[in-house]
Amino acid sequence: MKRICYYLYILTLLLSSPAYSQPDDEASDSTPRPLEINRNYPTVGEHAFLLQETENRLTLTQARAAFANKQFTPANAPVPGVGLTNRGVWLKLDVHNKTNEVLSRRMILEATWLDHIEIYIIKNNRLVFQNKTGDAMPLSSRQIDNRLFTIEHAFTPGSSEIYLRAQSHEPVVLPLSFYDLTTATRYDSYRSYGYGILYGIISGLLLFNLLLYISIRQQRYLFYVLYLAMYLFMDISYTGHGYLYFWQNATHWQYWLPSLSIVLYATSGIFFALSFLKIKQLFPAIYTKTIRFCIFICGLQILLVILDQGQTSVAISLLYVMFFSLFTFYYAIISFNKGHNDAIYYLAATLATLIGAATTVLSVLSVIPYTPLTFHAGEIAVAFDSILLSIALAEQIRRAQNETLQAQQLARTDILTRLGNRLAFDEISEQVWDNATRNKQPLCFIMLDIDKFKNINDRHGHAAGDTVLKTISAALQKMVREGDVLVRWGGEEFAIMLPQTSLTQAKKLAQRIRRAIEALNVSTDTASIKVTISLGVAEKDEEMNSVSDLFSLADHCLYQAKQQGRNRVVCADQNPGLLEVS
Ligand code: GH3
Ligand code: MG
Ligand code: MG
Repeated sequence: MKRICYYLYILTLLLSSPAYSQPDDEASDSTPRPLEINRNYPTVGEHAFLLQETENRLTLTQARAAFANKQFTPANAPVPGVGLTNRGVWLKLDVHNKTNEVLSRRMILEATWLDHIEIYIIKNNRLVFQNKTGDAMPLSSRQIDNRLFTIEHAFTPGSSEIYLRAQSHEPVVLPLSFYDLTTATRYDSYRSYGYGILYGIISGLLLFNLLLYISIRQQRYLFYVLYLAMYLFMDISYTGHGYLYFWQNATHWQYWLPSLSIVLYATSGIFFALSFLKIKQLFPAIYTKTIRFCIFICGLQILLVILDQGQTSVAISLLYVMFFSLFTFYYAIISFNKGHNDAIYYLAATLATLIGAATTVLSVLSVIPYTPLTFHAGEIAVAFDSILLSIALAEQIRRAQNETLQAQQLARTDILTRLGNRLAFDEISEQVWDNATRNKQPLCFIMLDIDKFKNINDRHGHAAGDTVLKTISAALQKMVREGDVLVRWGGEEFAIMLPQTSLTQAKKLAQRIRRAIEALNVSTDTASIKVTISLGVAEKDEEMNSVSDLFSLADHCLYQAKQQGRNRVVCADQNPGLLEVS
């Protein structure tokens, strides 16, 4: 959540920065004024008149007559838009060239999905330029080979009229800008960098998560990869990158792609959300209904393609993507309420996307300033959303790894004494043995067993016996060095492995331990218990093949200690015969 606030804060700063604010010289007067040739206009909407055709398609002459009859109305928004309509929309602008020079200017229309676009420039009642393009026509129809619909015109001194007609089965919005060539080229490269960064981030995350899926094989990573891939596909479809670089003349393909890619994007997003938010496990009924709904929408889209209902297909895909954002947001809330904490990441990511989308919409509606940043806030938010979800997925791996580590740790720990157990000992003793062999260093082993422990249990109870075990293990822990390996061997037996320790030193330690335990008074709720131990000590020698030979020898010594009357240390060198143990 902190990240989201940070992001919002930066956004607010950028929005309020004067560099991005728009000049506001028409604030008091809503009648559109001509564009001044010497100025750059990121949006020309406030200078435009608009007319939506009613029944028949208007010719240029009819449109001009309609303008003369004042049938056009001021557009009154930076980005004029009429939404989903089959009808043609006319936009009229005037350009004033008050200089004495001929000046070339570019008009750039960012709505790359529009099917049919016609542009006419009229000077002194004469048509001086016209161009018909749109993504229903091959790329070669364009005056300038660019992803965005761009026309360039040399404006002679005086006034020129521009008429633009747009018609599409997709939403008709007209984000039109008017720039000198230098600025137009500069913004072109900004956009390229911007998309480069966005696509770079998404592709990087896609590859990263694909590799994770290949190594972890968890479904949610695959869904996430698909979701990112579908996002890329959708984005290149409606921004025209796909049209420009991959399917230049495939106009039929371009006609259906934006709506179908939106459906694929939303469907993969829903599947990822269901998987990430554990909806199947937590809310099986919702899961089933959602899946059925997705299948229904996909089926419906196929039907619409067969029936050639492009506009309905677009309308349904837009409603579907709204359903996707709102419902998965709702799923994240209920999943979080059910105790699935990771849902918070999803909430934050979706919130970022919704804020981004809202910022774009509000800038288009001129509620907030229209700047390149606010217009592209939706895309910035998507990059943010993808990063956040990748962090969440990586975090899940980290947690799973920690849980595995903890489980491994637990399996190697004795619950009562918190010492290592046999499993831990088996793992580490091999290494210690190999080290000693390699470095030709001495290695000793002490095996110790509490004397008559059964009697303690019988007399004072099992709980008191446990207290004795804990007290002895605590005492042992204090007496061994850092590199020594002390474990509970089992029952009331303990073992200590002593690297770099000679038999003489080990014997001394064993005696010290024996005396210390003998001196202990283990106090329980009911009694103060005295206890003794017996110890067997052995040293690694060249004839031993493995670490188990060393254990056997020490165990044998311990047995001897018990035989000889307990509370004593028996060392392998006191009984040369013992060394022959194989
Ligand atoms: P010795 O001197 O010959 O070693 O006699 P002992 O009684 O100590 O030996 P024995 O092996 O006959 O008995 C060991 C007892 O330790 C039996 C078992 O109930 C008890 N014991 C093993 N593990 C635990 C434990 O975790 N807690 C308690 N309280 N007792 C245990
Ligand atoms: Mg015992
Ligand atoms: Mg025993």
